[in-house]
Amino acid sequence: MTTKSRTSIIDLLTPWAEKDPESVAAATPPGPDRVTLSKVRLLGEIGAARDRYLTADVRTGDRIVLIAPSCPEFLIEFFGAHAAGLVVVAVNPLSTVRELDYILTDSEARVLVAHPASAEAGKAAAAQHDVEFRTLPVVGDEGPRAEVGAESDVTVDRADFAWDDVAALLYTSGTTGKPKGTMLTLGNFISATDIVREMIEATPADRSATGLPLFHVFGLAAVTLPAMSAGAPVTLFPRWDPQIFIDSLAEDETTIVSGVPTMWMSVLAKAPEGEAPDLRIISSGGASIAAEVVRRVEDRFTAPLAEGYGLTETSGLGTFNPLHGTRKPTSVGPAVPGFEVKTVDPTSGDELPADEVGEVLLRGPAVMAGYWKKPEATAEVLDAEGWFRTGDLGRVDEDGYLFIVDRIKDLIIHGGYNVYPREVEEVLYEIPDVAQASVVGTPDEKYGQQVTAVIARTPGSDLEVADVERICRENLAAYKIPRIIEFLDELPKGPSGKILKREIVRMYTSSS
Ligand code: AMP
Repeated sequence: MTTKSRTSIIDLLTPWAEKDPESVAAATPPGPDRVTLSKVRLLGEIGAARDRYLTADVRTGDRIVLIAPSCPEFLIEFFGAHAAGLVVVAVNPLSTVRELDYILTDSEARVLVAHPASAEAGKAAAAQHDVEFRTLPVVGDEGPRAEVGAESDVTVDRADFAWDDVAALLYTSGTTGKPKGTMLTLGNFISATDIVREMIEATPADRSATGLPLFHVFGLAAVTLPAMSAGAPVTLFPRWDPQIFIDSLAEDETTIVSGVPTMWMSVLAKAPEGEAPDLRIISSGGASIAAEVVRRVEDRFTAPLAEGYGLTETSGLGTFNPLHGTRKPTSVGPAVPGFEVKTVDPTSGDELPADEVGEVLLRGPAVMAGYWKKPEATAEVLDAEGWFRTGDLGRVDEDGYLFIVDRIKDLIIHGGYNVYPREVEEVLYEIPDVAQASVVGTPDEKYGQQVTAVIARTPGSDLEVADVERICRENLAAYKIPRIIEFLDELPKGPSGKILKREIVRMYTSSS
């Protein structure tokens, strides 16, 4: 259970460093350059990082921008800055100077620290501001170790946070507008971590592997911290390669894997055969996963795929299909312990009965404190009772299971008819040669919006547009059938691997 007695996220790690100091905390993927950090070494590095931050011109509560791929150094800097009492703004290493410029201005950060491999844009952006630029030290096999005292307590000097103090700002566009800094508090991180760890029954005997980026809340708060707080080693992948990922599972005897649907699809496409590692949990979230893809992944790995749902603003949490008990296909599960879910009429705000489609609202201890310096935008999504408006359409059945229909803004209105892209995508994924598919509304003079499907085929496929049309005609009402169907080699993806619908719409808007 979560108690409010903890005053640092680091408190989730220290008990394990005391119990089993030499066991693995975090590692890079297997291979000749593999770096493996023990628990006591990780804390030693965190202490050293904290000391470095204290030499900067910063005060408690100042923001520091962290640019790093998923690797042990990310964790060292994240916790090191946290130990120094700073607020970490974790950003995508692929960010451009312009994007960083926006974040530096908005967050009023004092320091920008970048992994040497992704330092260029950060250096240029910091130079345009009064911001100290640093590169983070890349760890090797030897380095500082935290002290384990005679009574077996690990000492790391660290700042105390109050439960509601902001620990991180994660930028997201949310449902509308420019990127906003989601203020996640110490209490959000501790609650999210405790809830997930208990729900997935993680223990030190587990091993977690994820290709999710750590700068995204799903990878950090909903996957990596829960595993670490259970004493389980985590393998981090600085870039997504399905083959390296698959190979690591057997070598590391991984038990828990987590990712977004496009990762599972690429695993199916790139590594369709071979020995299936003995996994305990496959968790998927971040975007909808077609029922057919779930079936194929479960066949491939002979382990259950549990789908969950959450947002940056809710620390990645919300609902999750239970490990024991009923998992309902196409449902993202009931609310996780400590959370509540309901649907409301998007216009009136009135709560809806079971099975009626409306806007999904979440309430729970991992819901953000608000958007940084944006009280109006916060008031639009967070009410006085703590309910957060997700901008997603869904229904909750009589057993409390949530079914996501679509994002409200992704709804296509074709000649006055509502078309939910997800329903069309489900049909497309039933076509064997469809590796990835996305359906969007593109501007159309006559119908307002046209149903447009973009598809990536499996290599060597001879699937044709006419085949796709025929299958859609057999399965969908006429107004839902995509009038534009196009094959692409790759679908555009966002930082966490999710298909970027707005990019697809843009491709068709600028070319028409
Ligand atoms: P982000 O803040 O980047 O994590 O994006 C959150 C959004 O991802 C949600 O509002 C949903 O639209 C979408 N999302 C997350 N998980 C799922 C899921 N399991 N099924 C469908 N959509 C999801």
